[in-house]
Amino acid sequence: PRLRKPRYRVVLLGDPGVGKTSLVNLFAGVQERDPLDQHGGGCLWGELLQDHLGDISLPLHCLQVGNAYIIVYSITDRDSFESASELRIQLRRARQAEDIPIILVGNKTDLVRCREVSEEEGQACAAVFDCKFIETSAALQHNVDELFEGVVRQIRLRQGGK
Ligand code: GDP
Repeated sequence: PRLRKPRYRVVLLGDPGVGKTSLVNLFAGVQERDPLDQHGGGCLWGELLQDHLGDISLPLHCLQVGNAYIIVYSITDRDSFESASELRIQLRRARQAEDIPIILVGNKTDLVRCREVSEEEGQACAAVFDCKFIETSAALQHNVDELFEGVVRQIRLRQGGK
């Protein structure tokens, strides 16, 4: 099979330690299995952007290059939840005129006893910021395929395609 160029650039944003690398590694597995071929093709790859949150300012290009964004926080870390809101605000500023898909992800749902952010808070935040929301566990691979499919669906909806 010949190599294809990636068609979508999905950028993951979020505080260090929330699980971006883990999620991307799972995406890579999905891409190897290439389930999208049955649905008309399309590759997805994640660009890791972390450790840029010292002063909550991201290199401009990170906010310019994505076709879609996944903003990740850990449900066990309220600070990371607050960073997620900041990131959403920056993204809106940088890409004002565009209707880009953004999904807010509350990761680490397996750590039930360490939860600091409720699912309702996550949902409410996503409603305010006008983006999709899902809770995942990269460790248990819970809802990760759903996240992956959701991103692709959101991109396709906006492209007016199938
Ligand atoms: P990143 O800095 O955002 O890329 O975060 P990493 O993917 O490197 O994850 C940071 C740490 O959290 C690692 O030790 C991961 O194994 C762990 N981790 C990531 N996702 C989960 C999860 O869903 N549940 C649990 N329990 N640990 C996770």
